[in-house]
Amino acid sequence: MTNSDTLLVFDEAVTPAGVEGWIRHLESAGAPIEMYRLGGTHVLPVADGDLIDKAAPGLPAPTHRVPRSTEVFLGRRELRPSGTEVSFGPTTIGDGSVTVIAGPCAVESPEQTLATAAAVAEHGAVGLRGGVFKPRTSPHSFQGLQWDGLDLLAEAREQTGLPVVTEVVDPEHVKRLAGVVDGLQIGARNMQNFALLTAAGQSGLPVVLKRGFGCTVEETIGAAEYLLLEGNDQVVLCERGIRTFEPSARFTLDLTAVALWKQRTHLPVIVDPSHSGGKPELVEPLSLAAIAVGADALLIDVHVQPEQALCDGAQAIRPEQFADLMGRLAPMAAALGRRMSGAS
Ligand code: PEP
Ligand code: MN
Repeated sequence: MTNSDTLLVFDEAVTPAGVEGWIRHLESAGAPIEMYRLGGTHVLPVADGDLIDKAAPGLPAPTHRVPRSTEVFLGRRELRPSGTEVSFGPTTIGDGSVTVIAGPCAVESPEQTLATAAAVAEHGAVGLRGGVFKPRTSPHSFQGLQWDGLDLLAEAREQTGLPVVTEVVDPEHVKRLAGVVDGLQIGARNMQNFALLTAAGQSGLPVVLKRGFGCTVEETIGAAEYLLLEGNDQVVLCERGIRTFEPSARFTLDLTAVALWKQRTHLPVIVDPSHSGGKPELVEPLSLAAIAVGADALLIDVHVQPEQALCDGAQAIRPEQFADLMGRLAPMAAALGRRMSGAS
């Protein structure tokens, strides 16, 4: 395949017979066959423009054709100009509403997890986050409750009705996690763990792909391609701060990346103001800015007792602060002609 190919894009309305017909048409001309599926969308790269113009009668017309101008192409906005909606349990990310997913950095105990889940649900979160496998800089730090934590997430979902997302750190864990949770998170430290991306893509679950803190906007789009290549279009790009020369915050939130991903890709974008700022007092301003720049969703660390947290307590906000934040987000969403997800 070359960058001069034309991509024939067929939306959900195309029948299997229609796609088969195109493949036979190309085969009969001796053209190389490649076919990609992106959820319900089919993408067929064609090198020879004549084969498109002289298509056999009766073949379905593509929804649109776009030049394959870049090697990485499945996430490009042109393929799905209206954008992709991601179904995270009953919650939709990317439908124009402002989606807030909140919860503890790590699942630590039944009391902490269930109390935090109840609090974020009460104040309007429409998804619950919680790490059970924690990728820590030091091997001596709390590594998460691991499989024991998974049952707690399931219990929190049962009690609150919130869909749950958790980080996956090992391709071997994907199947078991996917049997319980509603969404998988690929952490910043694993953004380019390609075997993990492929396994997560194959799960068919929505995947929150966190940008590596030393990775570029385009490298993140490249990493997303590994998920998309598995036919899984349920991908949410996450900006969580990058490493810069600035030591005043844990990382520097790159809001330019949010605007660029919204322009360049059809994928929804979530911003994590907690891991980027690393301070409770930065969560609100960064969240408001993220929504203003076009983020679809926010991923926020909330803890009932941040001072007792086993992981990232220094950045977690308390339930009361989360309630205040939700109260500040609603008028911002309204000013942008958007609604808060889950709000009636
Ligand atoms: C997390 O969300 O818990 C996490 C570890 O974040 P990141 O991968 O962005 O550091
Ligand atoms: Mn964390």
